[in-house]
Amino acid sequence: MQNRITIVGGGIGGMATALALARAGQRSLLLERASAFSEVGAGIQLGPNVVRLLRDWGLMERLKAVAHFPQVLRARHALSGAVLGEKPLGSDTERRYGAPYATIARADMHGLLVAGVSQAGSTEMRLGQEVTSVTQDERAVHLQVRHPDADHTQMVDTKVLVGADGVWSRVRANVMRSGGPRQTGHLAYRAMVPMDSLPLNLRPDGVTAWLGPDFHVVQYPVRAGEWLNVVAIVHGDPPGELSDWDHSANATDLQLMLGQAHPALRDLIYAIPQWRLWALCDRPPMRGPEEHGLGRVVLVGDAAHPMRPYLAQGACMAIEDAHALARHLSDRRHAHVHQALAAFSKERWPRNARVQARSIRNGEIYHAKGVVQMARDIALRVAAPRLMDVPWLYRST
Ligand SMILES: Cc1cc2nc3c(=O)[nH]c(=O)nc-3n(C[C@H](O)[C@H](O)[C@H](O)COP(=O)(O)OP(=O)(O)OC[C@H]3O[C@@H](n4cnc5c(N)ncnc54)[C@H](O)[C@@H]3O)c2cc1C
Repeated sequence: MQNRITIVGGGIGGMATALALARAGQRSLLLERASAFSEVGAGIQLGPNVVRLLRDWGLMERLKAVAHFPQVLRARHALSGAVLGEKPLGSDTERRYGAPYATIARADMHGLLVAGVSQAGSTEMRLGQEVTSVTQDERAVHLQVRHPDADHTQMVDTKVLVGADGVWSRVRANVMRSGGPRQTGHLAYRAMVPMDSLPLNLRPDGVTAWLGPDFHVVQYPVRAGEWLNVVAIVHGDPPGELSDWDHSANATDLQLMLGQAHPALRDLIYAIPQWRLWALCDRPPMRGPEEHGLGRVVLVGDAAHPMRPYLAQGACMAIEDAHALARHLSDRRHAHVHQALAAFSKERWPRNARVQARSIRNGEIYHAKGVVQMARDIALRVAAPRLMDVPWLYRST
């Protein structure tokens, strides 16, 4: 039997797509390679652009129960410890953009979406199903799906295929014939620890970004303020093959790399016994709508536009993609799915490209040295609230 819409990948992008489609009255089939959803991924920040969407989707009460809503974003010099600038969040963000800024464990964010999808009852979720090849013709998209445990394959046909299979997207590789993502030369050490395992002076409420030469560290509470998420980005090469890497990290490596940091930051790094390691990959900013898909296949989230995490918007853009895609696929003015997908791609690619480009630039500013760093620090001291705000991003969806 042919499905109308099939989603490959049950991460934040795939789940958000299933939920947005369900809300628009559309049924879908979701294929996820993992046999169970994992806790991997530490914390993420959600800008008001996406908290507003989650509120519209009726998820605000659940979000309030598991997220944290920081009151301030603070930039500190990672070596001197000086506060370079602050921007109010909380009610200030709510007043300006109609929703607060939130920080949340990735597993909690994913759990919110899974609960929403299950409750809506319009998605058939199949776990342990790995899509191994994708082809398409005029009438349909044909997927080969492998069940890793049973070791057998099965064909699935669908009218529309949504590739939400992340940075190493098989859908993208098969359909667009593009190469893999590029290595950025940056490594991310991530950890989440219970607040009560830390001394009081290491438990600030807001989001703190420590800016150092060739590194930066971001910390913020998650899990309703009961856990602290910390991510340290350094320059370096990954140990081995990227796509099947197990993320294990050596805490001593990070302690040595940040040995020169201000004592408040060093104490935090030393207080965390276990880290996990990500080699950051991205693609150059999108150049046109054709990078969002081909024919009956459309890409969302990291499959389409993997980005550096320096604007904290990768998952947010995946959720925005989901919202826009469901809107276009349900718009009766589009006579054919090709028109709906073309309209989606045309709408989304410039915004995704802009966020990708700004993320790269932010990384350069965060890791600046010498005169550029001095200029950055002066600018932040003079105009932090304006420089740390992103109205074009937070306002429109
Ligand atoms: C250090 C770091 C910090 C970050 N901070 C933030 C932040 O603060 N805010 C923010 O918004 N974003 C942040 N991000 C980005 C965010 O995590 C990602 O952009 C987002 O999770 C991408 O979601 P996705 O669903 O597109 O991809 P993924 O989460 O990678 O999901 C892809 C899914 O597809 C499945 N899959 C893959 N291949 C197949 C296949 N062949 N068949 C079936 N299933 C398959 C996978 O198992 C997975 O479940 C950060 C990222 C990093 C690395």
